[in-house]
Amino acid sequence: MTTTGFCTHPAMIEHDTGPHHPERPDRLRAVLRAVRLAGLITSPDPFPDFQMDFGAVVQATRPLIELEAAPIDPRWIELVHSRDYIDRVRQISLAGGFLDQGDTPVMRRSFAAALLSAGCVQQCVDAVMDGRVKRAFAAVRPPGHHAEPDRPMGFCLFNNIAIAARYLQQHHQIRRLAIVDFDVHHGNGTQACFENDAEVLSISLHQDPRTCYPGSGMGWEIGLGRGRGYTVNVPMDPGSDDSDYLRVMDSRVIPELEEFSPQFLLISAGFDAHRDDPLADMQMSEEGFGLMTRSLVAMADRHCQGRIVSALEGGYNLRALGRSVVSHLMALNA
Ligand SMILES: [Zn+2]
Repeated sequence: MTTTGFCTHPAMIEHDTGPHHPERPDRLRAVLRAVRLAGLITSPDPFPDFQMDFGAVVQATRPLIELEAAPIDPRWIELVHSRDYIDRVRQISLAGGFLDQGDTPVMRRSFAAALLSAGCVQQCVDAVMDGRVKRAFAAVRPPGHHAEPDRPMGFCLFNNIAIAARYLQQHHQIRRLAIVDFDVHHGNGTQACFENDAEVLSISLHQDPRTCYPGSGMGWEIGLGRGRGYTVNVPMDPGSDDSDYLRVMDSRVIPELEEFSPQFLLISAGFDAHRDDPLADMQMSEEGFGLMTRSLVAMADRHCQGRIVSALEGGYNLRALGRSVVSHLMALNA
């Protein structure tokens, strides 16, 4: 029987981008409500007034283990971003403004929310490494995968998954790890962190960059120097559905992972390839995210004692997001 952890914190809604921004506080409310409706977590709902009809939700046979959240110590962020960068994010947040030409608004509480976001992923890593759980999911915002070492981008302040990867290497003596990013947008920030690195295999599945933000992640981007071959970009045609994604998992993603044989798997779990998502043009269903997760779980069971930490990235239709996270969690907890 698998134990799966779950880490979140209600204060991440205080990064208040406003009701009309796609990456808005209600995303977290929706995820937490859907996960409760599925019986995956049982603690009291911190947002009882939030209204949303999720339709029929599958029921978990056993709940997740709720992990304590904590903000990350900024010295761990320095494994990925410079101290100057961290100070800049702090100062612009305190003053209120934009980090990325209008895309990424920040306000007084954004810096604290970003520390919690990276901190929840870190707590998940610790819980897996000390054996309290086999896998874990961090329900967090702001997301991270567009944030480059010296550039905040696309709603992302700190690159949560990249920080977790470096933390695993520095603090937990994991050398060889893999990152799979199935958010519909290219994980350009994560690529920028590891493109020279042969010990981190970084795989991103995303909508064809000629048709979608941020415009990078072409198939020929395969890493640099000794990292050549350890960055894998798989552009997907607009309109791709569950069967297209599962075919690419079988033919590209899983074989790359099998050959690399990681000691730990990190997932940048964005759910914006869902057919109802307003920011992209894909046709995935929530079941598709569950099936994709299942094949990653099977790989992890074969190569890395099942160790997976997954962190929320995008997903902007609230109902689809909540239901897709449930499907992902059911597969992690199977
Ligand atoms: Zn995205």
